[in-house]
Parts: sequence; structure tokens; C-alpha cells
Amino acid sequence: MPDTREPARREPRAAATIAAHDEAFPLGAVVPPIYQTSLFTFATYDELAARFRGEGEHPVYSRVDNPTTAEFERKLAALEGAEAARGFASGMGAIATTILGLVKQGERILCVRYVYPDAYRLMRKLLPRLGIAVEFVDGADPAAVERALPGARLLYLESPTSLVFRTQELGRLAALARRHGVLTVADNSWASPIFQRPLEHGVDLVLHSASKYLGGHSDVVAGVVAGSRALIAAIDDVATPYLGAKLSPLDAWLLVRGLRTLPLRMRRHHESGLALAERLAGHPGVVRVLHPAFANEPGCATLSGWSGLFSIELADDIDIRVFCDALAMFKLGVSWGGHESLAFPARISRQQAGGANAVVEFDVSPRLVRLHVGLEDVEDLWRDLEQALKRARQAHG
Ligand SMILES: *Cc1c(COP(=O)(O)O)cnc(C)c1O
Repeated sequence: MPDTREPARREPRAAATIAAHDEAFPLGAVVPPIYQTSLFTFATYDELAARFRGEGEHPVYSRVDNPTTAEFERKLAALEGAEAARGFASGMGAIATTILGLVKQGERILCVRYVYPDAYRLMRKLLPRLGIAVEFVDGADPAAVERALPGARLLYLESPTSLVFRTQELGRLAALARRHGVLTVADNSWASPIFQRPLEHGVDLVLHSASKYLGGHSDVVAGVVAGSRALIAAIDDVATPYLGAKLSPLDAWLLVRGLRTLPLRMRRHHESGLALAERLAGHPGVVRVLHPAFANEPGCATLSGWSGLFSIELADDIDIRVFCDALAMFKLGVSWGGHESLAFPARISRQQAGGANAVVEFDVSPRLVRLHVGLEDVEDLWRDLEQALKRARQAHG
């Protein structure tokens, strides 16, 4: 039976205030202005020269510092309990810049299995060309992680993982890594800071695809990393401005807008996701529900709620193509975290071009369909799933 603990039981009480409350903006505006400008000018030669020597905080150029982007970074840092955050043009921008900012040629990364497929591709295709080794480990097996830690530079976590939603014991792994002098980075896109705050458990850096729950309206591609001022400065020093995957002011503004309702949306994703997962688990067309609430792993201890993303493994008598095509409310597509419900069949990922395929490497079942439960009425969504399963079984027979 799933653990149906109250949603957001340990939700940081401050989250709703951080999301909804601002210090005063110019002219008493209740919404921050968008500084939609590439550069900022200086009144005098001396002021410009002083800024170039590193004095003062006057913004210079939006690839490096933009006040609207900084507004999002401040809010996200506060939500994650971090000293600082950096916004990026995508989640992959955050992941690549963080890794390239911290890891050098000749060093080794230890990464959990079932990591997000494009993070996997980065590690398999680009990092080896730069002389960075990557080893994949079962994140649910702390002993295996500990054996592989000595000599590594960075432990890359994602809890729950992509597609199969395996969790890791963040606190335990962070403590082990620290003992071996290994930095920890955790992708927290699934839970959002409303349901999990990795830094509170000793993880060094937390990152997100802000394209998912943080934005929440499927209208932004963005990313963010948060942690100590020192680590963010280290990433900035060699990577952020030069790789140039900077979060734009307009996208930052949309993210601030999205964050306003993050606590509310996450509660709804939690409730609807769990309700549908429970009903699907009792349906004869579903062999297995891959949802952290059903897995009963120790890694669930740091989650105070469940999001709306999980997978189902369909029985052999369900025609997956017919099931997908029969869905009316659940649209077929990648990504997740917005207002809308989505379905994505894993076997399509198995056939993806481009090599270095995580879904094949980690042997994700081709019978698996990932569902994102959006903000629609949960009974409407259930009717949609039921009729699609019925049709997909008839088609088979
Ligand atoms: C989508 C996703 C990413 C990548 O984010 P983009 O914004 O698409 O670049 C990273 N991690 C996870 C878990 C994701 O789902």
C-alpha cells in the first residue's frame, strides 16, 4: 500500500510567503519589472572603470547579471534554503555548467543509474572527450556508492530518478561523499523545493529543470542551480559566463510568476497523482505502478509529498499504441510539470536516435508509459485513462 501521508506535512512553512511576498518594487508595483535589456550604461568613465575592477553591484551585461534574473535566483535560493542560485537557459544548461565548472580533466564523476536521459548523454558523449570519466552506480545501494566514492570528484544524484522513479537516501549518501571529499549535486526537479530540500540533508548543490514544476505552465525552458555562495562562485569563475547559457529576463519573469502558485500546484499534483496511481494499481491492465509512494524505499524519507509524475507498466494484453491514441485529455509529449496531463511511452525513447541511450542502458521496460497528472479534474482524468485502457485491451483481443 502506498504511504498516503498528508501532503506537504513538512513543507517549509516559509515557502508560501517566499513565493507570494516581495520587498517593495519601484512605484509600488506588486510585480517586478522586466529589465528586458542586454546592457546597462554608466554615467561616467570612473564608475565604469570601478565596476570593471569588481567594485559595486551595478549590472553590466545580461549574460552575466540582470536584475529580473536575479529576482528569480533569490526566490529559488530562499525556497531551497541556499545562500545563492544561478539561473540558466535550460535545465541542461544548469547541469552542464555545474559539472564543467567543478570537474577537471582526469577526474571522475559517480552518477546514479536512471539519471535523466540527456544528462546521461552529456556524461557519455561529451565528458569523456574532455578526459572526464563517468561511472554509473545503483543509487539505492549505499554500499555500492561507498565502494565507488574513493577518488571521485563529484557524486551526481537525482531522487526520484527519471522514468522509473527510484529514490536515493540523500542524507546518507551526502554524508558518505563528504567523508571521501566528494561534492554532491542533486537534481530535484521531480519533488520541487516544496516536497524536498536536498541541501537540508547535506547535499552541496541542488539543481532543477525549471521548465517543469518551477515554471509550471509549459511556457518556459529554463534551469537553476543553488548552493553555497562559494560553490556558486566557483562555477561562475570558470563556466557560467563563458558557456553563456544564461536565463533570460523574460523567462525569469515568467518563472517568478510560476513560483507564486508552486505550493498550491504541488499540493494538487500530489493529491491527483496519488489518487490516479492508486486506481491504476488496482486495474487489471496495469502490472505495476512505478511511483515512489508504492516503492517503500528508504530514500522516500526526505520527500514530504509526491508530485504528479509516475509510470505504469501495462499488461501484455494492452496495446500501447492504441492506449496512447485513445487518450483524449492526456496529450502525448515529452516534458512535464505544467498544468496539463501528459503521457509518454518509454519504448519510443528506446528507439531515439543519437546513441548513448539511457533507457536502453538501464533496461527500462518497453511496456512502461510515463504519466504526468496535471491540474485538470481528477475524475475527468480517470475516465480518460479507463476508457483508453478498455479500448487498448479490446484492440488486442
Ligand atoms: C527535463 C529534465 C531535465 C532537463 O531540463 P531542460 O530544462 O529540458 O533542459 C533535467 N532533469 C530532469 C529530471 C528533467 O526531467
